[in-house]
Amino acid sequence: MTAVKRYVSQGHSLLHWAVEVEVLCRRCGRAGVVRGNPSWRQWHATFLCQGCGHRLETGKIPWQGPVLATGRRPCGFCGHQWVHAEQRFETVWQVQSETAQVPCPNCQKPNSVDLSFSRDNREDSANDPYFGLELALKQDTRLGTLWAFNAEHIHQLKRYTAAQLREGSGTKWSYFTRLPSWIKSAKHREQVLKALSKLEARALTRKWSPNQ
Ligand SMILES: [Zn+2]
Ligand SMILES: [Zn+2]
Repeated sequence: MTAVKRYVSQGHSLLHWAVEVEVLCRRCGRAGVVRGNPSWRQWHATFLCQGCGHRLETGKIPWQGPVLATGRRPCGFCGHQWVHAEQRFETVWQVQSETAQVPCPNCQKPNSVDLSFSRDNREDSANDPYFGLELALKQDTRLGTLWAFNAEHIHQLKRYTAAQLREGSGTKWSYFTRLPSWIKSAKHREQVLKALSKLEARALTRKWSPNQ
């Protein structure tokens, strides 16, 4: 009797793995580890680059990742309400101006719209959740990009991907529930596992779980 490989999900959200996040240093480009506490009340993290000494701490450093810029005003020419602006930037460093030139949808004349900025870290944007730095553990495949925070995260993804039977609590916020379908699909299993092994070989952190 061959055992069917099972994975029993604990229903964790992505942030469960955010105690260690392997990122690329913005100053020198080297991979390093953000160490943090992702629980809502104790949200805190630090990053110290071993390559160049660049240091970040939550509360002292503003968000550096993706931002959404939005604004609106009545048209200065015809009074039409509203002239809306909305732009997304991959990092705060790409923001050049606090206003946007937007044509009025009614009279087409250009209006200068003041922008306000909010962090826009989507689940698929492959940034660390504390500072918005680019993740170091990313692997492109023909199907899409795989990414993970750390070695334990990869380990759990590998076990999940290898499993023929996936069980456990799947709330709407559970990480495995929210994974893109190409990762979950049995027909991509070998390809996904191969890419995960490549990621695993590059990881700076170690897996935590004692089983397997
Ligand atoms: Zn550095
Ligand atoms: Zn107008």
